[in-house]
Amino acid sequence: MPEREPSGGSELNETERVDKEHVFGTWSFQKDVSPTQVVDADGAQFTTADGGQYVDFSSQLMCSNLGHSADAVIDAVEEQMRKAAYVSPGYTTDARAKLGKKLAEVTPGDLSKTFFSTSGTEAVEAAIKIARFYTGKQKVVSRYRSYHGATYGSISVTGDPRRLPAEPGIPGTIKAPDPYAYGSTLDPMESVEYIDEMLELEGDTVAAILVEPIVGSNGILVPPDEYLPRLKEIAHDHGALLICDEVMSGFGRTGEWFGCDVFDVEPDIMTMAKGLTGAYQPLGATIVTSEIAEHFEENMFCHGHTYSGHPAAVAAGLATIETYQKENLIDRANEMGGYVGERIEELAADHPSVGETRGVGLFRGIELSRRADERVPFGTRSDKISSGSTVVDEVAATAKENGAYVANMINTLIIAPPLTITKDEVDTAIDALNAGLAVSD
Ligand code: PLP
Repeated sequence: MPEREPSGGSELNETERVDKEHVFGTWSFQKDVSPTQVVDADGAQFTTADGGQYVDFSSQLMCSNLGHSADAVIDAVEEQMRKAAYVSPGYTTDARAKLGKKLAEVTPGDLSKTFFSTSGTEAVEAAIKIARFYTGKQKVVSRYRSYHGATYGSISVTGDPRRLPAEPGIPGTIKAPDPYAYGSTLDPMESVEYIDEMLELEGDTVAAILVEPIVGSNGILVPPDEYLPRLKEIAHDHGALLICDEVMSGFGRTGEWFGCDVFDVEPDIMTMAKGLTGAYQPLGATIVTSEIAEHFEENMFCHGHTYSGHPAAVAAGLATIETYQKENLIDRANEMGGYVGERIEELAADHPSVGETRGVGLFRGIELSRRADERVPFGTRSDKISSGSTVVDEVAATAKENGAYVANMINTLIIAPPLTITKDEVDTAIDALNAGLAVSD
């Protein structure tokens, strides 16, 4: 196994060595890949200790939606920390109340009341519990090509192969096929009818269908326009709720506030994290309709964390959403997304190893293919948990040597830059990807 990321080049420095010895990394950032020390970041760029400077074409973990220099968010956190570092959940702060109201405004339909946590996985845990307590039913249907988090409930509804070592997970989770026209034998609209049949066969036992409206780390899968409306209809026909996991697709990433807005669908429950604070603070949120909220006026919601609605985190969330609004960043994501899309199509035309490009706004994927005409992937889904470097990793590593950080998962490069990225930075990243894709051609 390589001692560090293939792109890292130099030996580990003291910080990286001590970190590797004493801090657990997440997922593949353990034995296979060593940490790289970041010493500075500004806007959509960051600098590593060995002097490398990179355009961040993936917002780190698809979360730094504002880039790194959003003074309004930094100031809001500092101001709150100086007033009160922490208050227990029986107390509130101005920002907690205002953020709850703000989320009711920016989310679609009747979503109105929010439970705060500290991460995406916790937002999903809360959603699963809410759906079970509200419907009185136990099962949750999710899809194979999905990621919903790493804690036991959310990894159990995750379909990504990383779930396998944690199986069987919590009881009552069932996986369904995906709307993945490029790599699945089922047509996306056939796959949704399959889910209809699944719910029929499960009887009246399914609490919710949980999906990412546009699948993120499992390949940037954009369903046909009719898919999500039909899925909601299927859920409701069977007395189940629709939960949209917007942890990655939310907050402007798609050129709309949320992924479900692309399809004009109002879910019953929505989960959020990442772009909620642009990653300035850890914060998760689970918002529900007023009807579901009313149920919990009468019935206790058996759930909670010490840091639910942490003052610094909700201050960051409020300032982040105000920044999206003041700087028109959702529209900007749409416009800049058009430009990024055009530049990606140029890459696709020049590189035979590009199998398919997908996406909307600043949420795009480049799926690589060993033989594009036969759709043969370079990396399989199980490669990603069993071994280190795949050809797709090498493409990303070469892009990094050429000045752009691009996340990659399984067989797809994930293009999800900060909504604030400039055209020049996009061009730098596209040139770097151009060099990277030469490796897979
Ligand atoms: N849901 C989705 C769609 C995600 O993409 C992620 C993380 O990437 C999660 C949930 C889990 O979020 P976290 O890593 O903050 O726990």
